[in-house]
Amino acid sequence: MVRPMSNTRPRILTGDTPTGRLHLGHWVGSLENRVRLQDQYDCFFLIANMHAFTTRAEKPDEIRRDTLEIVKDWLAVGIDPERSTLVLQTEIPAIAELTWLFAMLVPFNRVMRNPTLKAEIDAKDLGDHYSFGFPLYAVGQCADILAFRAQLVPVGEDQLAHIEMCREIARRFDHLYCGVPTTTDDADYPAKGGVFPVPQALVGRIARLVGIDGVQKMSKSLGNAIFLSDEPGDLKKKCNKIFTGRQAATDPGDPNNALFQYLRAFEPDAAKVADLAEQYAKGAVGDGAVKGEVAGAIDRFLAPIRERRRALDGKPGDAKVLEILRAHMTKANAVAEETLRMAKAAMKLDYGRRTLGF
Ligand code: ATP
Ligand code: MG
Repeated sequence: MVRPMSNTRPRILTGDTPTGRLHLGHWVGSLENRVRLQDQYDCFFLIANMHAFTTRAEKPDEIRRDTLEIVKDWLAVGIDPERSTLVLQTEIPAIAELTWLFAMLVPFNRVMRNPTLKAEIDAKDLGDHYSFGFPLYAVGQCADILAFRAQLVPVGEDQLAHIEMCREIARRFDHLYCGVPTTTDDADYPAKGGVFPVPQALVGRIARLVGIDGVQKMSKSLGNAIFLSDEPGDLKKKCNKIFTGRQAATDPGDPNNALFQYLRAFEPDAAKVADLAEQYAKGAVGDGAVKGEVAGAIDRFLAPIRERRRALDGKPGDAKVLEILRAHMTKANAVAEETLRMAKAAMKLDYGRRTLGF
């Protein structure tokens, strides 16, 4: 049996795919919790750059650019590289190996029935021409989480189906290869000899922030996002475009539409929002006035983030990001390699021992 390294704090693993820059949905769905939990947990934040290739294999330059941009967004919102570990997926070979091993533990049709994948196929118009690797990313994401034996995964609601699959794979592995009884409580898997804890999702303050189209989830691939790095001019333009479906300014408005979702998320003065919602529902205030309030509230939220991000602009910022990513690879690989050794030992695959030097 391979003994795990001492680990006093429970672990978090979560991350983002470099398919664009980060937006307000990322903040309320996941980033806010990541920033808040950095002291309580041993945090691993992963850039899923391998997974970006599942839909953008022909765009390596964009994937590399977005990888650096996302790390800049992380640093700007308060992810602290002194306290948390940044993980670049393609530099962690154990993740790719675990993906293979886990792919044998989940039926093909179970993966294809995953509602998150189905929603992505529709939203990104992938039809039936998506790559073989595209559905595999769902299994790969289980490997991301389990490679770090994370207990907690802060995510938006759209990710819950993926986390459920990850929980199933952890249980199945521990039953099959570690002799953990099937009657075991989810919290007790490691205590009963399992390699993997059964991780829990932690959904953010707003589970699914709507996009400026007023319908779909705000998403970096859908052209409906307000980015954390948007300048005031772009922000204003986007806020003016927020779709409400309201025909005339005097029609009763829906106080739960996109405008009010944004206000409740980013305007700290709750009494002001409640008052505005009441007036809006009566038709006493028009969309234009509320859009102005939304733009103001988001701008005040983004101003300090923009400021910190500016310090990372251009080539010096890129160099700093690469330096952090490289420095963190050692710790990330130490944990993931240890997990892989434990998993391979449980599977009777402990033929030798490799070490990764940097
Ligand atoms: P893509 O369009 O490429 O799928 P995305 O905008 O959906 O990009 P992801 O990288 O897939 O972003 O998601 C990263 C994290 O942010 C996940 O935990 C996801 O649940 C969360 N998240 C993304 N969009 C939202 C949203 N609109 N509301 C709440 N959480 C979100
Ligand atoms: Mg997504």
